[in-house]
Amino acid sequence: MFKDWFDRYAWDTVVGDIQETTPQRVEQALETSKRSLDDFKALISPAALPYLEPMAQQSRQLTQRRFGKTIQMYAPLYLSNECQNICTYCAFSLDNKIRRKTLTDEEILIEAQAIKKLGYDHVLLVTGEANQTVGVEYIQHAIRLIRPLFAHISMEVQPLDLPEYKTLITEGLHTVLVYQETYHEETYKTHHPKGKKSNFRYRLDTPDRLGKANIHKMGLGALLGLEDWRADSFFTALHLQYLQKTYWQSKYSISFPRLRPIQLTDEVHRFKSCMSDRELVQLICAYRLFNEDVELSLSTRETPRFRDHLIQLGITSMSAGSKTNPGGYAVEPESLEQFEISDERTPAQISSVIRNQGYVPVWKDWDPSFV
Ligand code: SF4
Repeated sequence: MFKDWFDRYAWDTVVGDIQETTPQRVEQALETSKRSLDDFKALISPAALPYLEPMAQQSRQLTQRRFGKTIQMYAPLYLSNECQNICTYCAFSLDNKIRRKTLTDEEILIEAQAIKKLGYDHVLLVTGEANQTVGVEYIQHAIRLIRPLFAHISMEVQPLDLPEYKTLITEGLHTVLVYQETYHEETYKTHHPKGKKSNFRYRLDTPDRLGKANIHKMGLGALLGLEDWRADSFFTALHLQYLQKTYWQSKYSISFPRLRPIQLTDEVHRFKSCMSDRELVQLICAYRLFNEDVELSLSTRETPRFRDHLIQLGITSMSAGSKTNPGGYAVEPESLEQFEISDERTPAQISSVIRNQGYVPVWKDWDPSFV
């Protein structure tokens, strides 16, 4: 289990190692062809920031060699904003007084059709964690409803038990995203004080359960800003390495959610680290130099200018035209969003930006009938 790997590392030692990296160590990491976790640590260090240009060049070459000039497109479908957890950074948190909504069968189909009309063949189902209303049976039913419309169904919901994942995979689920938020156990408890999500270890074990369920693909990541982003990224890379060695049949992706302002709350949450645009580019390139096979995904949290720039630097999948509220595409566009998005361009506009850079937007990357 990953926890055996995780427990071998002390957070403060990792932070110290990264901060003490020398320029010589960064150059060594840049010159080697097969990179270790220690090389990854060097590449995400402050000492590596002046080497952004050679890192970006290598990242571009490696990505094109493995993925061609393609960007996979997906859109989230929010099924519900009901949630029994308190997460300090989320508009759907139990302690926020908002109108709660869970889509009915008819509404799910209306939303799914609206996403389909935008050109998508890959949809990401999203819910809060409310087992009474949006438990496994609800999700299973939703997958059954939309399965005829999409070639690829992903899901970002509460962590589930192994038999539940097996059931949903049989039903047509291909990919599960489960972000650890932060690998710092104490900070995790501060930001998740109530609800099932407060169980750090259960969440940490979730990718192991997904691997055992033989999931086609799983997505990892940390919510960048909750803690020292460099240490959190090291632990994400450690998790990725463990999973690839243990569950080699599955594919993997990494996402880079940076904290965004949420509507509602007057309280200004003070997060530990603020990540600059240059540092996010550094991190994306460092992942690519560390791992040539992992898919790297960028959402509409980021600005149009920044996203356009990243198309050629290592990113392999993007969302576009996203609505982060249940019913946001057609049923109830005015309901509260989970977080504000920065890039509000339509999928057609993003598609033409991708093409203008000599890349191809991929709306359907596989067909289940080939498996
Ligand atoms: S992040 Fe997820 S679990 Fe936490 S409050 Fe928001 S919807 Fe609920």
